[in-house]
Formats: sequence, structure tokens, C-alpha cells
Amino acid sequence: MTGFAYHRPSSLDDALAALAERGSLPIGGGSDLLAAVEEGRTAPTRVVELEHIPELATITVQSDGGVRIGAGVRIASLAEAPELAAFPVLRAACSAVGSPALRAMGTLGGNLGQRQRCWYFRSGVGCFKNGGTGCAAVDGEHVYHAILASGTCHAAHPSDPAVALLALDARVEVRSIRGSRMLDIAALYEGAADNARSETVLAKDEVIVAVHLGAAARDGAQHWEKLTQRRAFDLALVSCAGVRHTDGSVRIALGGVAAGPWRAPHSVEEDIASGGLDDESIEALAARAMYDATPLAGNAYKVQMAEAAIRRAARAISI
Ligand SMILES: Cc1cc2nc3c(=O)[nH]c(=O)nc-3n(C[C@H](O)[C@H](O)[C@H](O)COP(=O)(O)OP(=O)(O)OC[C@H]3O[C@@H](n4cnc5c(N)ncnc54)[C@H](O)[C@@H]3O)c2cc1C
Repeated sequence: MTGFAYHRPSSLDDALAALAERGSLPIGGGSDLLAAVEEGRTAPTRVVELEHIPELATITVQSDGGVRIGAGVRIASLAEAPELAAFPVLRAACSAVGSPALRAMGTLGGNLGQRQRCWYFRSGVGCFKNGGTGCAAVDGEHVYHAILASGTCHAAHPSDPAVALLALDARVEVRSIRGSRMLDIAALYEGAADNARSETVLAKDEVIVAVHLGAAARDGAQHWEKLTQRRAFDLALVSCAGVRHTDGSVRIALGGVAAGPWRAPHSVEEDIASGGLDDESIEALAARAMYDATPLAGNAYKVQMAEAAIRRAARAISI
């Protein structure tokens, strides 16, 4: 393992200045980053700790009912946060992350910024994400990989919270010394399959400082499901978040199927929102949602799983 300096900034400005320097990387709980350093996939000269910066460590309910979640808040705290009682889909997704130890260490920012858990990538095979070309999983072992491939890499993104956040229309607040910007959670992962350096669009000096939930997603019908091979300490084969917003519109998001969290086609969401669906139409909608799936030889089972998860979500949030 190569050595690196550890910087504990006293303020966000201090952290952003440190992150602007070449070789610096942000660290949340370190549960992914330190493994990457140990495995030789990355070699920061300095890591910049984010979790003790006050504005990154708190959850704030805004006057309009929206919520701002600091990126340094631990996953375990999110799973039980009273401030998130009106967003049960996010609490359930956080409860489903890994194991109690990972939830206790992992932060929201680190969870969204974590790298793919593809075994070829993690074990240093010279694939596209490791400085090589192509995706070793296509002709290799890909039982856990994406069924909605959108580029070179076929890994499926591991974040559970990202799936719930997509269904909640969450926005991500990103900062660097150059300024700040807000991104839709979907935009955060745009081009993930064709980006070798990261699964997010963040520039090297940018960090997620907070995630914002709008009031429009409060208290509506919300549904979460994570299908795994074993009951604990496992990544999603397929996960599904369904949310009915206060205006009656519906979002269906899936995990385990694409390079980032994936949202069902708008026409499917609109038909679910219109309500009055019988079993036959729900079945047809779920099949339509998966129409563009292009599974590999060994993971077509995920298409059926995704359809089943969408059917259950549609029933749970239907009127
Ligand atoms: C065995 C195992 C099983 C897991 N299972 C699941 C699971 O089922 N579901 C799930 O959702 N997750 C799972 N995880 C992920 C885990 O729960 C953590 O959320 C994740 O490892 C990262 O959290 P962290 O705060 O420790 O991030 P770190 O390791 O500190 O950082 C991860 C990456 O994000 C970057 N980063 C950190 N903070 C920020 C920020 N604020 N802005 C931008 N980038 C940032 C770092 O530079 C690094 O590249 C699993 C992890 C392991 C090791």
C-alpha cells in the first residue's frame, strides 16, 4: 500500500482548497477508498477527510418541507433519521446497504462516489476501467452485471441509496474552489459506463457536499425492494424504488441493472400514475419497462427479476 498524507480540514473552504491540489482525494468512511489504495487501483498523495465539517455532517429540514442531507452523514444515521420519516424509501434503502459495520462507516457522499464492484475491475484485470480496453465481463463471468448496458463497461452500480434518491428526484449539491452546481442524481452518473476514472461526472477537484430532497416527494406512497442472493451483506441483484409524488406523478427506479441507477421509461411511469390498473396491464407495463434490456448470456434472469420488482412497486404505489 502506498503512503499518503491525511488532511483533516477545519472548514469546507479549507477542504476545497486541499482538494484542488493534484493527488488529493476526498475520503468519507474510507470503506471503499482505502480498499482501492490497498489494491493499487488508486494512489492519492493526500486524502481529505470530510465528515467532521459541520455543514457536511447534518440533516436539515427546510421551511418548505424539503430536506438537505450533508454528504458526510453516515448511512446508519440516515437509516434511522427522524428528519427522513417522510421519505421511508430512502431510509429503507440505507438500511439495506451492506452490513451494520459498512453502514456505520460509510457516508452518503462516499456511497454515491464508490466505484463499481465488478470482480475484473477490482482484481486488476486490464479492462477499460483499469487502463485497458473493452469489458472482460462480456465474454467472462457476468451473472451480476448490467442488463441495460450503456457503454463499454457492463458493471452494475452498487449504491442502494442512489436508487431511492433517483425515485425521489433528489438533487446533488457539488462544490469546488471554482464554485458550486446542482445536479439531478441521474446526471451525476451520466456516461458512467464510458468513464474510466469514475462512475460520476465530478471533476477531480469537485465533491458532493449535500443531497437535496424536494417537498414534492414527502409522504406520498413509497416502496423499496432489494433482491439479493443471500439475506444480508450482499449487493443488489436488482433493487427497485417506487415513489408517488404529491402531484400524483410516479417514479420507478432500479438498481443492479445499469452503470448507474436506472429510471423506467416515462410512458411506463405515466401509465402507473394514471391508476386503475389490473394485473394484466401491470404485467404488460413491467414488460414494456424492460423492453430495451440487452442481457448477456448469463444474466437474463435479471430481466425477469426486474419485471417482478416493477410489478410489485406499481401495485404498492397505485391508486
Ligand atoms: C463488501 C461491501 C459490500 C457493500 N455492499 C453495499 C450495498 O449492498 N449497497 C450499497 O449501497 N453499498 C454497499 N457497499 C458500499 C459501502 O456501504 C459504502 O457506502 C461505500 O463503501 C463508500 O462509503 P465511504 O463513506 O466509506 O466512502 P469512501 O471509501 O470514503 O469513498 C468512496 C469513494 O467516494 C469518494 N468520495 C468520498 N466522499 C465523497 C464526496 N463527499 N463527494 C465525492 N466523492 C466522495 C472517495 O474519494 C472514493 O473514491 C459495500 C461495500 C463493501 C466493501
